[in-house]
Amino acid sequence: AQIPQAVNEEVKSYAPGSLERAQLLDAYKKMFNEVTEVPQYIGSEEIFSGNKKEIRPPHDHQKVVGYYHEGTQNDVNKAIDTALAAKDAWVAMPWEDRAAIFLKAADLIAGPYRAKLNAATMIGQSKNAMQAEIDAACEFIDFLRFNVQYMTEIYADQPISAPGIWNRVDYRPLEGFTFAITPFNFTAIAGNLPSCMALMGNVVVWKPSDKQLLAAHVTMEIFKKAGLPDGVINLVLTDGAETAKTVLEHKDFAGLHFTGSTKVFNALWKQIGDNIDQYRTYPRIVGETGGKDFVMVHKSACATEVAVGLVRGAFEYQGQKCSAASRAYIPSNLWNEVEKQMKEMLATVTLGSPEDLSNFVTAVIDKNSFEKSKAYIDRAKASNEAEVVIGGTYDDSVGYFVHPTVIKATNPKYESMVEEIFGPVLSVYVYDENEFEATLKLVDETSAYALTGSIFSKERSAVEVASKALKNACGNFYINDKPTGAVVGQQPFGGARASGTNDKAGSAMNLLRWTSVQTIKETF
Ligand code: GLU
Repeated sequence: AQIPQAVNEEVKSYAPGSLERAQLLDAYKKMFNEVTEVPQYIGSEEIFSGNKKEIRPPHDHQKVVGYYHEGTQNDVNKAIDTALAAKDAWVAMPWEDRAAIFLKAADLIAGPYRAKLNAATMIGQSKNAMQAEIDAACEFIDFLRFNVQYMTEIYADQPISAPGIWNRVDYRPLEGFTFAITPFNFTAIAGNLPSCMALMGNVVVWKPSDKQLLAAHVTMEIFKKAGLPDGVINLVLTDGAETAKTVLEHKDFAGLHFTGSTKVFNALWKQIGDNIDQYRTYPRIVGETGGKDFVMVHKSACATEVAVGLVRGAFEYQGQKCSAASRAYIPSNLWNEVEKQMKEMLATVTLGSPEDLSNFVTAVIDKNSFEKSKAYIDRAKASNEAEVVIGGTYDDSVGYFVHPTVIKATNPKYESMVEEIFGPVLSVYVYDENEFEATLKLVDETSAYALTGSIFSKERSAVEVASKALKNACGNFYINDKPTGAVVGQQPFGGARASGTNDKAGSAMNLLRWTSVQTIKETF
């Protein structure tokens, strides 16, 4: 069967007076003023445990917009059993029918659910409308559609045969069940991790971040509406560490699809190692973790392009993308101009609720995140190796607001130049413009993470030198662009070193990890 050719979903503008803007604001108001109850989804059941935990928007932390019903380890065991029981029928389903379910989910998001899923992402995760649109709508839709296309390409890839012999490979799902642990920062990633494993014929236990539950709840509603059979994806709302223990001790555990912190991923990997003797098969481990993403600037670069790249790369979604620009190396000839232009741009941005579509910056995700950014800012103010040159203010009286902040460090190994902050804090090191190659070496040496990075240069030869020197310092390399905003189908996304297993989300490389191939030779 031929499936529809995937194309990237168009980003809607939400211009004043547009229908999409009115629909989005309606959906926002409705969800903000209602009390949403989020259950666990296990098989056909929606489990309202009664053990209710509050959901509050990060930009308005006194307001309760809903509750999630926390589950126990009994629920996790039940989710595993339910997934395993659903497996045979799911595997037996023709792939065209599996594909149709996820293509329908994409169409539901593109159409009737777009406003609701975007609103859930704006309220629950404090994304502004544009950041919600490129995530919960466009990227999620793209994942769903492109994955279907990649699946068919994978299945079509077959070995050669010979006279009297027919060779073929069967792309079986993994034997057992799979486990998705998903982050707060992208509704698209949260939806993609379980759904891409399911698309390849696997059954899934899904543990979302408890900071993303309004959108995760809408996502389950969409999957169900699209016809996903009960038990294929089971969503549990349970303690993270305990859940990992229960799942990773199970003999039928067959794969982990993770996005989150390096620390948690390392702990999970160790647990899997400790339990290795009791598994039926070697589990697949796929993780996308932290980043300390660089922007390297050559003396030939355009100061305006650099300033725009830094403001967008560092501060969109309050710097809470794994890919966010969080350290920049600016040559001495350009610094004054780049600083001036960043100041001018940031003087015009406003902070506040995402309900006001003109706000570029909203809140960071929670109190811990606020405190973390605040601590880096305060220490920089007190340090003799760093100074705060832009921003540096914060206020958590209504929501967790941190003004976009630029720290200029005189020591390139100063803490904020090397540690992940995951907030709207950019660190800059100004280097002697004639020390380009030595600075490239420094960037590589200080890249414990290796997720994304950029080089800005008008000289092609400098781009070549940088590409070579930074070959292993990032998994996604951007030439004359910000290091964020990978588009499914266009820039497969992921990094190595402490940033993960680099199994490129939004590509066939990722989907291949969720199959276990059987080779069949038949002689006639
Ligand atoms: N794919 C996103 C980007 O390119 C980042 C994903 C993440 O933060 O995990 O900006």
